[in-house]
Amino acid sequence: MDHVANCPFCGSSDVGVQQLAFDSLVAKASSDRRYAAVCVSCGCRGPAVVLKNDPHQEPNATGGPTPDDPVKLRARYEAVEEAANFWNRRV
Ligand SMILES: [Zn+2]
Repeated sequence: MDHVANCPFCGSSDVGVQQLAFDSLVAKASSDRRYAAVCVSCGCRGPAVVLKNDPHQEPNATGGPTPDDPVKLRARYEAVEEAANFWNRRV
């Protein structure tokens, strides 16, 4: 994923798609995850993409391998791509 456009507000190229940590409580309750493109420089954020029902996404508490299955990995990848596309469309 190297096609995220520069920030329209501060011009920084330091923009990446992140999982939104401040939604973590809601996400834990619903098994949803939210992704959005975020400018590291000024902190502005693009539209969020909600990834439904992904309970195995986080590394487990013991630090062992996460039992991600390919379908869920694919769904996460697509959510990240969509978040990048939302950002690029807005720029
Ligand atoms: Zn910015």
